[in-house]
Amino acid sequence: MTDFTAELTDRLTRYCAIDSQSDSDSPTSPSTEIQLDMQRLLVDELTALGAQDVQLTPYGAVLATIPGTVAGPTIGFLAHVDTAPQFNATGVKPRVIKGYNGGAITYPDDPALTLTPEAFPYLAQKQGHDLITASGLTLLGADDKAGVAIIMTAARHLLANPDLPRPTLRLAFTPDEEIGRGVDAQLPKDLGVDFAYTFDGGKVGEIEDETFSADGAVVTIKGVSIHPGYATGKLVSAIHLAGKLIQTLPQATMTPETTEGREGFIHATDMKGSAAEMKITFILRDFEREGLEAKGTLLRQVCEAVAATEPRAEITCTITPQYRNMRYWLESDRTPVDLAYESARDLGLDPVSIPIRGGTDGSRLTEMGVPCPNLFTGMQNIHGPLEWISAQDMQVATRLCLAIAGRAAGG
Ligand SMILES: [Zn+2]
Repeated sequence: MTDFTAELTDRLTRYCAIDSQSDSDSPTSPSTEIQLDMQRLLVDELTALGAQDVQLTPYGAVLATIPGTVAGPTIGFLAHVDTAPQFNATGVKPRVIKGYNGGAITYPDDPALTLTPEAFPYLAQKQGHDLITASGLTLLGADDKAGVAIIMTAARHLLANPDLPRPTLRLAFTPDEEIGRGVDAQLPKDLGVDFAYTFDGGKVGEIEDETFSADGAVVTIKGVSIHPGYATGKLVSAIHLAGKLIQTLPQATMTPETTEGREGFIHATDMKGSAAEMKITFILRDFEREGLEAKGTLLRQVCEAVAATEPRAEITCTITPQYRNMRYWLESDRTPVDLAYESARDLGLDPVSIPIRGGTDGSRLTEMGVPCPNLFTGMQNIHGPLEWISAQDMQVATRLCLAIAGRAAGG
């Protein structure tokens, strides 16, 4: 079997060194110009590999075709090129630890930081692997440059071996996944596939066909602003009302830090403003439509209850749908999930499905008519300085990509 670890390590370290962080405060598409540095590199590399229809779309996605050698479903493979806005992603210095010895990992740029197999049991299973980490001051960006490296390596292998049977494959590298804007309205049509997979998951063997259903909410509180020297009996502080609202919402239950498994939550992500006006931003999450709706109802009830204590204030609550659990669509047609499971078993893996406490580009794509489960890459401790990945894990993911293409070709 071909050894892909050197190629995967080379691709991942090169891609991670490119800053392509997205920015939820930016109104543009893509949200940051720097993501296009990554996209232009991929256009050049795909063209050099001999991929067809290589295209950078007006919304900042890179698309390409690997022509099929046999009839079969047209399958898409996707990864996102942006890195998370939650942590420093500028000046990433990827570091390769060859043949990991199983001990604690320290960081050159932050001596206080350590990554230990005691704290992260999955690491203990990776003794002897080649690990890639950042240097201590930044995230690594394996989320989702690992997905990019896996798909690019599989594409290179298929294009170099035209004798390997495969149906037509479409590749897509999307911007702005981390800020929930990775799937442009045009993407399903431009992609033109029967179904697709994102490579954006964690541990080897994880094939995810279930995500949260998600809404966003914005609560605006307008108080009564007046000079504090003349405020007696007149001033209504939006800050006090915001505090009351937060206090009234559940805190010992129904928050991200107090829930797990299939439980949903209401999470205040941002609060800003002044005594005159406050704006609180929430995300609402649940695996079921009814549960999500109940969380929206609860938030509205709390807003009304706080508003009732101060009739001079004005409180509005706007709830906007974000994405829906992909299971609702995938359970009516299991073809892509079954194909991934069977291909994983062909590789001797024991695939497992764990509901994702988040969303992927695949959640939106599935809802828009392109069934799109999520496949593992090996990435761990994402969105922070302890992010790491094993090259051998990425190799298993690359083989899964090839196995899916082979099985779909009747192999
Ligand atoms: Zn990701």
